Amino acid sequence: MSILVVGSVAFDTLKTPFGERKKILGGAATYFSLSASFFTDVRVVGIVGDDFTSEHEAVLTNRGIDTRGIEHASGKTFHWGGEYGDNVNEAETKFTDLNVFENFAPKIPDAYQDSEILFLANIQPELQLDVRRKMPRVALVGGDTMNLWINIKRAELLETLKEVDILLINDTEAKLLTSEHSLVLAARKILTLGPKSLVIKHGEYGATIFFSDGSHPFRAPALPIAEVHDPTGAGDTFAGGFMGYIASQPELTPTVLKRAMFYGGVMGSFTVERFGPERLISLTRDEIEERFRLFRSLTHLD
Ligand code: AMP
Repeated sequence: MSILVVGSVAFDTLKTPFGERKKILGGAATYFSLSASFFTDVRVVGIVGDDFTSEHEAVLTNRGIDTRGIEHASGKTFHWGGEYGDNVNEAETKFTDLNVFENFAPKIPDAYQDSEILFLANIQPELQLDVRRKMPRVALVGGDTMNLWINIKRAELLETLKEVDILLINDTEAKLLTSEHSLVLAARKILTLGPKSLVIKHGEYGATIFFSDGSHPFRAPALPIAEVHDPTGAGDTFAGGFMGYIASQPELTPTVLKRAMFYGGVMGSFTVERFGPERLISLTRDEIEERFRLFRSLTHLD
């Protein structure tokens, strides 16, 4: 099954304890699509400015990603500045320059209408909802968001959540969205807002999936990594591996969901090894399978 993703295609300016990078390729849709492209066909809807070159776009097309839905507008590409201290799980946003995203009206190429899965990667919730409404025939909708939109676009976000089947967010976002201190209570509340499944990501400690039908939650590990060079994009890369694996399977069974949680963790663990999407660009399917085995051995008792 093919996945259509809408979200930020960006430049990131980053500082971590391992160094700094200025205006490197980033964005939620970029990380998501690179990661998902190891499992299935991916199409992107987004917008970039005239500082976004054909070399930047080639990073996506070289992985077979369909970029016909990326609009080229005059102006500057979305630019995010982030910094990490000793806590690799929390980015401190230094600036968010929406630039061309400010007046973006998503246009979906006709060739994308047969996409079976839609992923609403991080971007203004109204844009997510607009794309959701323009894709009425999709079989499954995944989504993500962040603290900025929970704080300044809560009402719009709540509208979007009604249309999302699987929401993927991190611990802090889950608590912020629900004003709950307990993760379990936060999960219960979110599962009344629309999503049938909720993946809460715990950064370097793994991720847990909760279900609205009362089934037991399931937790997948993260790989203990000695040197996290740049955590940027780990969450979107997780989502790409998770949704990509689901798209590659004939049916959405509980076993598929559990394995998807592992593949999400596997993909995220590669991204943080280097700055930006560098590690995803050089990655191979064999390396992914080798690390999947490592993830199994990390948690299997017998
Ligand atoms: P994460 O997976 O949470 O580390 O996401 C990192 C990516 O999110 C970066 O590459 C940023 O370009 C992108 N990003 C940061 N802030 C926003 C925002 N407000 N809206 C959309 N994308 C963002």
